[in-house]
Amino acid sequence: MSKTAAPLQFETTIAPTEPVGLPSRDDAQILRIRCIGKKLFNVADCIVTFNPATNAAGSLNPAIDIEQTMVEREEAFCLDIAPSDEAVVVPDASRHALLREHPAVSGAPHIRFYASHPVCSQDKTLAGTVHLIDYSLRPVFGESDRQTLADLAGLVERELELRIVNASQLDLQKKNKNLRRKSLIDPLLGTWNRGAIMRILTIEAIRCDKLGLPLGLIVADLDHFKKINDTYGHPAGDAVLVKVASRLRSCIRPQEALGRYGGEEFLIVLPGASQATAMAVAERMRAAIASQPEIINGVTLNLTISAGVAATDQFPAATTEELISRADMALYVAKDAGRNRVVDANPDSN
Ligand code: GH3
Ligand code: MG
Ligand code: MG
Repeated sequence: MSKTAAPLQFETTIAPTEPVGLPSRDDAQILRIRCIGKKLFNVADCIVTFNPATNAAGSLNPAIDIEQTMVEREEAFCLDIAPSDEAVVVPDASRHALLREHPAVSGAPHIRFYASHPVCSQDKTLAGTVHLIDYSLRPVFGESDRQTLADLAGLVERELELRIVNASQLDLQKKNKNLRRKSLIDPLLGTWNRGAIMRILTIEAIRCDKLGLPLGLIVADLDHFKKINDTYGHPAGDAVLVKVASRLRSCIRPQEALGRYGGEEFLIVLPGASQATAMAVAERMRAAIASQPEIINGVTLNLTISAGVAATDQFPAATTEELISRADMALYVAKDAGRNRVVDANPDSN
């Protein structure tokens, strides 16, 4: 044990902060254990304290506050006793060299019997103490009583272990969630990455098919983006991509999804959108980019996108891959036609 104290000293310093993970004084499980202890030993109270004092029960000073309730006085008394790594049994506190000086012994509530057992954490450090308190003498506290008190302390130890397991499980779940999120999000743009947007497309295509709804798809690509990189540098190009992604995102609704399909190419999944609706969204996106320039590092940049649009009402038998390929072909038609435009996929082209 890391903290070894001779049995029965008054505590002089108590750390002010509550260590994470230790139960509070009104923790339901600890209250239950206290109840068991009280009934088992037929004592006035069974108190559980933790190191450093987490259940700061009023005064930490032996001078007892007149306003304190009986229970608070008992708790204060327990907190005043320095934690010990040994079991302690005091049949008559009024005859004990140290305890008899304590106001809770010399005055109300006139504690007479006191016993305690250490509670250890998994790493065998002293984590707390189980205390028994009674107002009558108890001349006999035999070996089997001592064993029962040790078992009671064992229950508190299991409770602490359970807390650690629960806390680490919660921590793992949180880390897993973060990792999963990271694996789906493009780190630069904060949009879905290619894998995630493809998964969304697959899921939404199945869902829309079941509901008899169309699904629209837009493939949008920045025009002449290479020139921006070449002229102003890669970091400026990155900043442009961030701004463009943000403008595109502002054109869609929460149930619609924007993903980075490639370097400066975006895939937009529009569940429930017909070809006509998807065309309107794509046109809104094109206008949102072209309507006003972006200022990056003090340089004004006129940006445009080209987009290809395909939807399931136009290609009812198409797989998601075929739908992307149709939108992609339309995108290249838009590029060939001079860029800064939206082109509808043509059902007649193969
Ligand atoms: P087009 O109008 O035909 O689409 O021409 P473009 O210049 O936009 O297309 P091209 O495919 O020739 O060049 C795309 C450039 O995008 C090349 C690549 O280095 C750049 N790029 C891809 N990903 C990123 C990125 O994450 N950051 C930056 N800064 N550039 C990127
Ligand atoms: Mg491009
Ligand atoms: Mg491209």
